[in-house]
Amino acid sequence: MTVRFDGRVAIITGAGNGLGRSHALGLAARGAKVVVNDLGSAVDGNDGSRDAADLVVEEIRSLGGEAMASSANVADYAQVQAMVSKARKKWGRVDILVNNAGILRDKSFSKMDVEDFKAVVDVHLMGSANCTRAVWETMREQQYGRIVMTSSSSGLYGNFGQANYGAAKMGVVGLMNALHLEGARYGIHINTLSPTAATRMTEDLVPRACLDLMTVESVTAGLLYLVQDQAPSRLILCAGAGGYAVTRIYETNGIYLAPDEQTPENIASNLSKLLDSRDQAMLQDAQGQTMKFVTQAAKALGVT
Ligand code: NAD
Repeated sequence: MTVRFDGRVAIITGAGNGLGRSHALGLAARGAKVVVNDLGSAVDGNDGSRDAADLVVEEIRSLGGEAMASSANVADYAQVQAMVSKARKKWGRVDILVNNAGILRDKSFSKMDVEDFKAVVDVHLMGSANCTRAVWETMREQQYGRIVMTSSSSGLYGNFGQANYGAAKMGVVGLMNALHLEGARYGIHINTLSPTAATRMTEDLVPRACLDLMTVESVTAGLLYLVQDQAPSRLILCAGAGGYAVTRIYETNGIYLAPDEQTPENIASNLSKLLDSRDQAMLQDAQGQTMKFVTQAAKALGVT
C-alpha cells in the first residue's frame, strides 16, 4: 500500500526550516496541497529570515507540487485564524495540521526569566492549541482530520536547562490526550511525534558524526505515517536516525490502604508494591483512574 495525500490539504507550522520543511516537501511529494507556515524567526524566536516560507513554497512548486506561504505567528490566534480562512478559501478544506513551529530559550531554571519561560510555552503549547482550535470546527464538519503535536524527549524524559521547553512539550501530550477523546467521533485522529534530527536547533548540541545520521527525512517518514488515512490516534511516535519507537504512559495497579492505614509511613513501606509493573495498564481516560481506585476501595470495604 502506497501512502498518498491526493486531494488533502495540509498546514505545517514552522515549515520554513528543518523538520517542518521536510514534512512539507514529503506531504507535497505525495500529493497534498500544502500551507507552508513560518514567520521566519531565529532559533530563539527573535528576527531571522522573513522569506523562509516563500522559499519552501517555491521549492515545492518547482517540483510540481501545490503550496502557499503563510507568515502567521502561531502564538497569535487572530493570525492563525486568518491563515486557516485563506487555506479554506483557496482549497475548500483542511485535512491535516502539523503543529511543528518551535523556538528555544535554554537556561538553567535559576537563570531563566519568566519571559523566556512564557515565550517558549506561547509558541509550542499555545501555538499548538491556537492552530488546532482554528481547524477544529472545519475538521468536525468534514468528519475527517489528522493532527500531529510535536513533542520532544526533553518533555517526555527531561533535559537540563530546558524547563520551559520540557513543560511545553509535555503540555502538547496532554492536549493530544483530551482531543483524542473529543475528536474520535468526528473522525479526527491526533498523534504526537517526538523527533530527533539534525537541524539548526541541534547543530551546536550534537557531534557532527551523529548529525549526519539524524536526517530530517527519517523523521518525516514517521510524520507521514501519523497523518495518513489509516493513521492511529493518541500514539506518541519517537523517531530519529532511522530508529522508531513508541512512548507510552502506564499506571501500576498499586495497592489499597484501609482508612486507618492511610499514612505516609505505610506508603513508604509499600513502595516496591506501588512500583510493581507486572499489572500495569494504559488507562483510557481520567475516569479510568478514579474508577480503578473507587472500585478497589469499595471491594475492600464491602460497599456496593
Ligand atoms: P527549526 O528551528 O529548524 O525550525 C523551527 C521553525 O519554526 C523555524 O523555521 C521558525 O522560524 C519557526 N517558528 C518559530 N516560531 C514560530 C512562530 N511563532 N510561528 C510560526 N513559525 C515559527 O527547528 P526544528 O529542529 O526543525 O524543530 C521543529 C520542531 O521539532 C520544533 O517544535 C522542535 O521543538 C521539535 N523538536 C526538534 C528536535 C530536533 O532534534 N531537531 C527534537 C525534539 C523536538
